[in-house]
Amino acid sequence: MNQELLDKVLKSPRLPSLPTIALEVIDLVQQRDVNIKQIANTIQHDPALTSKILRTVNSSFYGQAHSVGTISHALVVLGLNSVKTLALGFSLVGNLSNAGGDGFDHMAFWKRSLYSAAAARALAKQVGIVQQEESFLGGLLQDLGMLALNQALGEPYQNVLAQVGVEHRQLILMEQDQFGADHAEIGGALAEQWHLPPMLTHSIRYHEDPIEAPEDMLAMIYCVALGGRAADVFISESPGEALDNYYRLAETWFHMPQEQSQPLLTAIHKNTVEMKHLFDLPTGDLGNADGILARANDALLNLSMQQQQQTAELQAQNQVLVEQATKDPLTGAANRRRFNDFIAEQFRAATDGAGPLSILFMDVDHFKKFNDTYGHQTGDRVLVEVAGVLTDKVGDTGLVARYGGEEFAVILPRMDRVSAARKAEELRGAIERNAVTSDEGKALTVTVSIGVATHDGTFFTSAEQFIRAADQGVYAAKGAGRNCVRVFAPRPKKVA
Ligand code: GH3
Ligand code: MG
Ligand code: MG
Repeated sequence: MNQELLDKVLKSPRLPSLPTIALEVIDLVQQRDVNIKQIANTIQHDPALTSKILRTVNSSFYGQAHSVGTISHALVVLGLNSVKTLALGFSLVGNLSNAGGDGFDHMAFWKRSLYSAAAARALAKQVGIVQQEESFLGGLLQDLGMLALNQALGEPYQNVLAQVGVEHRQLILMEQDQFGADHAEIGGALAEQWHLPPMLTHSIRYHEDPIEAPEDMLAMIYCVALGGRAADVFISESPGEALDNYYRLAETWFHMPQEQSQPLLTAIHKNTVEMKHLFDLPTGDLGNADGILARANDALLNLSMQQQQQTAELQAQNQVLVEQATKDPLTGAANRRRFNDFIAEQFRAATDGAGPLSILFMDVDHFKKFNDTYGHQTGDRVLVEVAGVLTDKVGDTGLVARYGGEEFAVILPRMDRVSAARKAEELRGAIERNAVTSDEGKALTVTVSIGVATHDGTFFTSAEQFIRAADQGVYAAKGAGRNCVRVFAPRPKKVA
């Protein structure tokens, strides 16, 4: 973190100062054995604070059956902790929200803070942790560092804010980029300087990256952090992404399914509207929850549709790339590279005992003649037809590859010599019977010479040697007059 900036911010004479009442409350909050009377007395010294607390306690937020008329009474019904936290919150916020007219968008700031606060509290309640008031206050003050940075830096900070608009995640990145520290760190340091309770200090410090927070406070800090993401759903100009983010983190941090998150967001909006009046904060119109959430959900739906479409397009592109890398473009048979990979793999398997491996090598007879007599296009068609017959007949039992010009290879895993020879004969016959039409419409007979070799797992020592044996078979077939099959017969190894 940028220590120089931190010092500058913390020593800035323009930094919001703490009102006396806040200092007193903080002091009380830290004391373990403080009694109800002391707290009540301190709060009652400040009539404005007293009336705010009583209005809050009597609001539907707390759902009290009977009206609460005094701080002492509030302390009894709500408990010490809630009242202390409320007092702290009101006294801090009262002071911080006084500023204005300095080019900083205080309205946007408090709008987000209030949403975060209501959300953090609702989340704390939902997940059943006791620190509901602390979560509320943590949510409300999580962006305290923004106020401090604004006061200490002024225009340069406001320029950054103007660039990122309402997108909070980008703000953190931009702050780090421009100033070497972000508002979470600065706010955390300020809270520490003010001696705010550790729970609060840590909520402020870790609200962007709760993963780094101390383990024992993690649940509350998650509430505060997720509260901020809930605020983004209502504020962001990309509500679909904000909602997506919220759902994802709710699931990751609290295993909270989407069905549970949805009604909670509606409740958060309602609470925010109510708290806005209690805190008397400048937030502008908060709009209508159903409308905002419907828009966010629509945007999210669009987003996921776009993502699905992109995924499908990427998959299709990958498919094309894979095909381009492994297929011969003219015939659609496997290309030489795929042949090499496959034979290497199968040769190893056969050597390791997976069963006999056979290979058929073939070369089209007098192929040059088709080119010379009927043209190159007809020659191409002959190749396509031969590959078609081979693919048809071999199916899933092996790999048909174009080895080169007018040479094809068929690799047949787990096929012994006798079956391979029979298969070769079947393919030879099928190609001979499959008439190919020339460009001029003439039916042409195409024949191939085939060499067969079988690796029983022990005879050949390399795939190259195995391929050469099949090629010798082709040579023998050509020598025997073409349009026939020759099987490579290994001579028994001499016994010494
Ligand atoms: P043999 O019976 O002894 O195998 O005679 P052949 O004419 O088939 O053998 P040769 O190797 O002399 O001729 C192969 C010809 O295949 C030469 C080459 O121009 C042609 N060729 C190679 N690739 C292609 C191709 O993609 N399309 C076409 N149309 N011709 C090709
Ligand atoms: Mg040839
Ligand atoms: Mg040939």
